[in-house]
Amino acid sequence: MVENISQPIFRFAPSPNGQLHLGHAYSALLNFDLARRAGGQLLLRIEDIDTTRCTPLLEEQMLDDLHWLGIEWEGAPRRQSEHFAEYQKALDQLAEQNLLYPAFMSRGEIKRYIADNSDANKPWPKDPDGAPLYPDIDRGRDKQHRLQLIASGKPYALRLDMKAALKTVGNALEFEELGGGPHGETGKVACDPLLWGDVILGRNELPTSYHLSVVLDDALQNITHIVRGRDLFFATFVHRLLQELLGLRAPIYHHHDLILSDDGRKLSKSADDTSLRTLRRSGRTPDDIRHMVGLACDE
Ligand code: GLU
Repeated sequence: MVENISQPIFRFAPSPNGQLHLGHAYSALLNFDLARRAGGQLLLRIEDIDTTRCTPLLEEQMLDDLHWLGIEWEGAPRRQSEHFAEYQKALDQLAEQNLLYPAFMSRGEIKRYIADNSDANKPWPKDPDGAPLYPDIDRGRDKQHRLQLIASGKPYALRLDMKAALKTVGNALEFEELGGGPHGETGKVACDPLLWGDVILGRNELPTSYHLSVVLDDALQNITHIVRGRDLFFATFVHRLLQELLGLRAPIYHHHDLILSDDGRKLSKSADDTSLRTLRRSGRTPDDIRHMVGLACDE
């Protein structure tokens, strides 16, 4: 639990697993502008728990792009890959509450199981990102069997027992939204974490996941305002739940519009034409980027 904080603290939290594009530029500039307007601070966090896809070179280029854009942040960036021990502690805390279980099905096994157990009349439920919910297979296994499977070397994910977690928390969860969700949700938003099923919080070879590290780091960095893309709006349901389970303060959220490609699709880190590197190379200036994402230039 953190003490009362009067100065607003914002953060930009990119993953160096590809080139930054216009969508990142918008999010970073918006955070920077809002922090300045509020007389607050902007912190930078490098979300690099995926140490195979995130590379030092991509991180260096990312920092260079952010400097070029004119983004300034306080202090040294927090690099998630340097904090695995802290994430492990939080996982242990959840395990002590009996809220985690090892889930052994691979993606292929999940797919096959779902094909065998659903049909057009009874489609398999999907989470807000469109991924199928994890089958009800591993949650009820007895301890002995779990240990046997782990000892056999079968890879596993550590999943949150969502129903048990909601029961532990007991009360309804909500958060304060200053931006908007995909259906215009704003103000006090009620959370429905069940939509996600038993989310992954760690893996046998990695003591964390996006959900776990983002929640812990936001608390450890005393973040008061989370400004990020609308694609993460529903993830906030899980984040609020984890905050309650781990005894962490809830920040204020602001989910912003996504910058879409000309054909209306979400920008991707592999599409070269909107990457900041390419735009820089073609002679665009930071002010051009501001115009392109619809933000006013510095007065
Ligand atoms: N690291 C995430 C991304 O690059 C953002 C996480 C967040 O802002 O909560 O999409």
